[in-house]
Amino acid sequence: MNDHTVDPSRCAAYGCPCLGTTTNSTGGSDKWFCGYHAGTDAISWARISNELNRLSFIVLAMEKINTYRSRYEWTKVYREIQNELRLNQRGDLLLVEGESVSAWYSRLDAELEKVCKGNKPQPELPLQTVPTAEADHFKRVQLAVPEHA
Ligand SMILES: [Zn+2]
Repeated sequence: MNDHTVDPSRCAAYGCPCLGTTTNSTGGSDKWFCGYHAGTDAISWARISNELNRLSFIVLAMEKINTYRSRYEWTKVYREIQNELRLNQRGDLLLVEGESVSAWYSRLDAELEKVCKGNKPQPELPLQTVPTAEADHFKRVQLAVPEHA
């Protein structure tokens, strides 16, 4: 993105799509970073931003979970997130039956964490097929809508 304007709510690392949620300054600086950039060397910022942009659908999903999980739009938003994850071939990241929204959120977070902390580029994982979710995913989505957390 060339039009990266300074948005105080965003992570200060260039090109990062995440919200700034933490500051690692000991005073003097008011820069905020996301949890993936915080505490990392500036030399790896570009790589981390690249990974986060590559997986921006996960970043977005997490923002939506944060924003909408206790709102009335949640059912609709939840379906959007599940569809988005499927479109990106990440059936492994769908909310599974019996899983709480918080646990799901942590799993998405862990996925980004894993990719960002890696020192070498992660090889693409072989695509995993999700047999049951594929066949009747529409029905499954409707059954699996979690209550407000
Ligand atoms: Zn960041």
